[in-house]
Amino acid sequence: MLYAGCHLSATKGNAAMVKTAMSIDANTFAFFTRNPRGSSAKKEDPADCAKAVAMLKEHNFGTLVAHGAYTMNLCTADPEARAFTADVLADDLRRMAALPGNFYNFHPGSHVGQGVEAGVGYIAAALKKAMEPNYPVTVLLEAMAGKGSEVGGKFEELKMIIDAVGRDDLGVCIDTCHIYDGGYDIVNDLDGVLAEFDRVVGLHRLKALHLNDSKNPFASHKDRHECLGQGSLGLETFRRIVNHPLLRNKPMILETPNELPGYAAEIALLRSMEVR
Ligand code: FE
Ligand code: FE
Ligand code: ZN
Repeated sequence: MLYAGCHLSATKGNAAMVKTAMSIDANTFAFFTRNPRGSSAKKEDPADCAKAVAMLKEHNFGTLVAHGAYTMNLCTADPEARAFTADVLADDLRRMAALPGNFYNFHPGSHVGQGVEAGVGYIAAALKKAMEPNYPVTVLLEAMAGKGSEVGGKFEELKMIIDAVGRDDLGVCIDTCHIYDGGYDIVNDLDGVLAEFDRVVGLHRLKALHLNDSKNPFASHKDRHECLGQGSLGLETFRRIVNHPLLRNKPMILETPNELPGYAAEIALLRSMEVR
């Protein structure tokens, strides 16, 4: 089953997002748990959440992939800012419990010169504190492009975080633009990259994908998303991904530079490429 969707605006509430998703033939989606560039979160609305949960079930949606704010850097250098950010993560996970059974993905962070090991330590400490044993939410680390001092641009760094947290329920979201920019050649050797992921992290940790083409060439460490088929990855790469036996049932989220009509067209494109 192909679970395809895109980033949606959460400003009108959760039930409105499900409606919007249905209007573009999406059966999963992503949304920011708070203002993507800031730290403010909306007031919680239990009735809206309950309505959304019922709609998701009725219309057979796959697992949703919420996204933490881009500004949330768990390994920032300033201790006060770091503590605040760790609290934001904890609050996000607590809020996710209103939409039980879904994923919460976030960018691990940038160590800003403190080094990968220090960064991993801060990220792991925040996760250990925020991840309550019984939250009905699975946390995903996003695989990054290795831009600047980003942590998580190598599978080994994701594994370092996972080992430091020491939980079975910490997963990974692979962003196709990020890992291709990061030096994993999914265009010419998708199977080889998945084998490498399995060797380093373990494929059982792979829970979701962000499907983005890239404006930049292989191993550029840039992270600039492009529409499907218009960048260096190309449509054939996405055709292989949506049909790959190890990937085909995972939620696939578009973060391409599109408005809703563009997303609708890309979702239709992915569905047309699926071999049933
Ligand atoms: Fe992301
Ligand atoms: Fe992404
Ligand atoms: Zn990105």
